Amino acid sequence: MARTPLDRLGGILIDPDLLDWQRGLRAQFPLIAGRPDVAYLDSAATSQKPQAVLDAVHHYLTTGNANAGRGTYTWANETTAMVERTRDRIKRFLGDPEPAASGVHFTSGTSQGLRVVALDWLPELLRDGDEIIVPFADHRANADPWLEAQQLLARQGVTIRVHPLPYEADSHDYDQAALARLVNERTRFVAATHVHHVYGNDMNVHRIREVVGPAVPICLDAAQSIGHLPVSVADLDVDFVVFSGHKALALPGTGAVWSRDLRGPRLRPGGWAGTPNTAGIASLHAALDWLDNAGLDRIEQWTLALSARLTDGLSRLEPYEVLGCQASLTADSQVQRRHSLVTFRHRSISSNDLGFILDSHGVMVRADGHCQGGQGEQETSVRASLHVYNTPAEIDRLLTALAELR
Ligand code: PLP
Repeated sequence: MARTPLDRLGGILIDPDLLDWQRGLRAQFPLIAGRPDVAYLDSAATSQKPQAVLDAVHHYLTTGNANAGRGTYTWANETTAMVERTRDRIKRFLGDPEPAASGVHFTSGTSQGLRVVALDWLPELLRDGDEIIVPFADHRANADPWLEAQQLLARQGVTIRVHPLPYEADSHDYDQAALARLVNERTRFVAATHVHHVYGNDMNVHRIREVVGPAVPICLDAAQSIGHLPVSVADLDVDFVVFSGHKALALPGTGAVWSRDLRGPRLRPGGWAGTPNTAGIASLHAALDWLDNAGLDRIEQWTLALSARLTDGLSRLEPYEVLGCQASLTADSQVQRRHSLVTFRHRSISSNDLGFILDSHGVMVRADGHCQGGQGEQETSVRASLHVYNTPAEIDRLLTALAELR
């Protein structure tokens, strides 16, 4: 298989400085750097952690571990201050133009965050006869909770209508024209996803605001964009950003909901939250520092280029079908759309088998249904997902293993 040289990855010209930059960053991930025999291509499920994040957790647990928001002694106060600093850090990371007016609520990940918005905030917003628009062909974490909210309200005698957010068949983007036809004076809320977890495309959510107007709150599932590309709440003009810290280099069991708190009621998560995951929160602060220092523009450039190399390679292997936008399959396509993940199927080998076979080649990918919502892909597939630590050699290793299966 003819491969493009390292300075051109999938049609994208790579600055030689970027290659050096990436080498330096990869070396900071102990599990990755210590295992050159394997290729970890499942970062969309969870990411690996740089030494700086591990050090921050070690530092926290060995210098002042205590509970937060309770207790008046030094370690407790320091922990409370660390949690507050992390809230501010998240706001800065998201380019929040009005940090004094917004809020940050810590969660275990995106699924829990979306349920908080759906069950603790949305019911307060909605009245009988109101309508909401939500994505049923994205991750089920961004579909199920809205239906649960509908059922919760129905038990209180409040009927709301839930419309599926429409998609364009070819690009897999949201269909803005069809969305415009759905929106009416009863539309109170839209949920969307920033980067699709199966197709890898940016869903152009900035266009949703243009369609729904200034008053409708928008909730963004940013599980696959935070840590991969710059995410600016000012540019996107959304009201919630929900993400998983563990997919953005922080510890497992971390995530957050950022809420603008200007359209509709303030987000006040219900019930007694109990002890926060303080070590995880410390790791999230360190992870966001690490990502900002590395540079999200460059991380995006790198993973887009690797995804383009993989997409291009797969499109040349006859038995494979790449899922998602078909206009961006080749290296010289102007549409380099896959952010950090590429999903495919073999025309005759089952995706589960393919997952096992790739594992035996030291390539770790996700092979299943990818937790899709009810209107998503019905058949299983293989997803290779990347982060800044992945290399062109790992992409080629995957492609070579796949080519041998022809
Ligand atoms: N939303 C999207 C787009 C995802 O890719 C994922 C991750 O699998 C989730 C939500 C759920 O994230 P978590 O497992 O961290 O709750």
